[in-house]
Amino acid sequence: MARRVVPGDPSVEVPHLGPNDLHALNRLTAYNRSELEGSDCRCGCFHCGSMFLAREVARWMAEKDGADTALCPRCGCDAVIYETPAYPLSTALLTTLYLGWFGSEYDERKRSVTYAPSFSDYKGWLRKGIPFRMESRPADQVAGEVDLFREPERDDAGGMVRIETSDHRDLVFIDEWGRSLPYTVMTGQQRLVRGLVDEHGPRLRGLIADPNDWKLRLIVEYG
Ligand SMILES: [Zn+2]
Repeated sequence: MARRVVPGDPSVEVPHLGPNDLHALNRLTAYNRSELEGSDCRCGCFHCGSMFLAREVARWMAEKDGADTALCPRCGCDAVIYETPAYPLSTALLTTLYLGWFGSEYDERKRSVTYAPSFSDYKGWLRKGIPFRMESRPADQVAGEVDLFREPERDDAGGMVRIETSDHRDLVFIDEWGRSLPYTVMTGQQRLVRGLVDEHGPRLRGLIADPNDWKLRLIVEYG
């Protein structure tokens, strides 16, 4: 079943999780059948980012030494947490847990990503669950990747961008909201990008997938 990521609005608090929080949240994922079965409790899966009600859980993993463990109705993973007073459920929480527990899977997805929804800053990236929503589209071709420099004290916006050249052949990055983003490409890599702009025109797009590593992936869209 397709995942169901619910982007959180800007008022949602982004959790700061310490080791005790991670331990407590991890405990919620196991032996939870007695709490969850048939209940209207809100649940989320930090493997696929989906949210659902506890009564939607249809499969349980049998445990020898306790109650059964819920499996996500969307992806089948035993990474289901449920809302508690201490840990309000949010996509930002699920994203934070995903990056912590499935970091190597995330790195793998990031290697082949050609599309990601736009975001305005790092917290928005977490709230929107961008890591869950990255896609590798077969009709796209990755033409390279360059390093971005950003001006400090500006929002860390990203996602898909148009790449244009100004009259002075400066590279300009424009996000889906029409904003020119405050980034520059390292001098030695600008020639590659300009060449791709000349060759592919509007078929060339840039992707800033992760506001932590400041790469601009160069993608040529076919079809
Ligand atoms: Zn799932």
